[in-house]
Amino acid sequence: MTNAAPLILFNSLTRQLEPFVPVHEGEARVYSCGPTVYNYPHIGNMRAYVFADILGRTLSWKGYRLTHVINITDVGHLTDDADAGEDKLEKAAKFSAQSIWDIARHYTEAYWADIRALNIRQPAHWSIATDYVPQMIEFAKSIADRHCYELDSGLYFDTATVADYGRLARAQTDEGEGRIEAVEGKRHAADFAIWRKTPPGETRQMEWDSPWGKGAPGWHLECSVMSGALLGFPFDIHTGGIDHREIHHPNEIAQNQARCCTNGLDNPANSGAKIWMHNNFLVERSGKMSKSSGEFLRLQLLIDRGYHPLAYRLMCLQAHYRSELEFSWDGLGAALTRLKRMVRQIDDLRHQYGSTAGYLSTTTDNEGLALLRVIAPRPDEFEDQRLVALLAEFDEAISADLGTPQALVVLDKVLSLKRVDVLQKHSLASIMLRVLGLDRLEPDGDFLKPADLRIRPKAATISEPEIETALARRKEARAKKDFATSDAIRDELAAKGVEVMDGDPLGWEWKLGD
Ligand code: AMP
Ligand code: ZN
Repeated sequence: MTNAAPLILFNSLTRQLEPFVPVHEGEARVYSCGPTVYNYPHIGNMRAYVFADILGRTLSWKGYRLTHVINITDVGHLTDDADAGEDKLEKAAKFSAQSIWDIARHYTEAYWADIRALNIRQPAHWSIATDYVPQMIEFAKSIADRHCYELDSGLYFDTATVADYGRLARAQTDEGEGRIEAVEGKRHAADFAIWRKTPPGETRQMEWDSPWGKGAPGWHLECSVMSGALLGFPFDIHTGGIDHREIHHPNEIAQNQARCCTNGLDNPANSGAKIWMHNNFLVERSGKMSKSSGEFLRLQLLIDRGYHPLAYRLMCLQAHYRSELEFSWDGLGAALTRLKRMVRQIDDLRHQYGSTAGYLSTTTDNEGLALLRVIAPRPDEFEDQRLVALLAEFDEAISADLGTPQALVVLDKVLSLKRVDVLQKHSLASIMLRVLGLDRLEPDGDFLKPADLRIRPKAATISEPEIETALARRKEARAKKDFATSDAIRDELAAKGVEVMDGDPLGWEWKLGD
């Protein structure tokens, strides 16, 4: 077997590494908390989906039939994760001429564009919160008598009615509960709204009738309802950023426990998912990344400055998902250089065996949930024992709680192997690239080429053919040892913002300056 290492994942619920044992034989059902679409996602948000994607690809690689759900929160998420503040979308709509529905659509599409740019596979379902409001009301009705109480502002979940409330957050030891702001009349500080009534005399753009009056569902309720509806309780894995470990996910678990009608988290069925996984933050030197302060680091900003989006994906993969990752432009540049080196090596391999029809070139798994294992070679297809051993090493790395940094090192080893069958080396590298999601085809349907990774800021004023012509002249001059002409061309280009990179480790190259 090429993927025989046991899959071990870190469960935030137990704070332990655990072997993955699926609820349903041969299947893996995963729910990822999606974005709140009141603004563009920043690249920190996108780290959460690169992580969920690597998890999904690894599950596919291990042979599980994956059903992945990512939701879109278009209602209910307040400006504070607890019950303080306004609905993020209602607030955005106040400052905009657009309707709240248009705002949600616009930012959902922007998020999907980032998903595609980062080669994140499409989940089986994108569940949109506002499509599930009737089910949310039904869910709330089913737990209201035993677990909720009504205040003027809404229907509240009484956290004392379930066992071990906050165990996921380690609320007693962490500062979790202390941070939650009080709402008048709440029985416990940690109680939260599952239905927020529209205040008398106000109209919200998004509101629905319910047994508790006109209003909107609470954010935590949405995820409990959509995960249960699409995956069934219990399902295998629930993911989100580390901030969700403190409030959002403990509250989902409390609702799920109430719904499953039994107390106690010892039975995994009661928390909804067996394994809860959290990615750590992408941070800036100045602190946590935010949409409201400092430079708003959108993926599009990176692209506008000329960086290929896969460089950001690689940057994420170079760190383990449970480690904090600091963003810097230098770090992004280093990831781009590494990506260029890989792409150059793979491009060379393709040229060496004289075909662009690579081993894996015809399968695109972005549309569906194709099993990666189906396209993996059997061990006997690699006669070279070094390749067999490297594939096993890769499998062990990725199976050990998604060890992407180590898996990348194994890929580097494959790419630098000497005296090896070119086609087999290419095949093995392609498999690894696919598991890591670095196998993106360009929009023209062609393989990623080194030239696609050139730094090309949007603001550049000179066209690429002009640069290429000038560089061809310069090459000619250098060949004739006419350094005066060569230098003059270099200066001319520099004046137009083009930096000729003679010292680029990958050979002759150019980039457009910032
Ligand atoms: P939001 O749109 O705020 O609901 O966030 C979408 C996802 O991004 C959630 O899973 C968050 O936990 C996650 N997230 C938010 N900020 C960061 C960050 N700086 N780094 C990594 N993940 C983040
Ligand atoms: Zn959620």
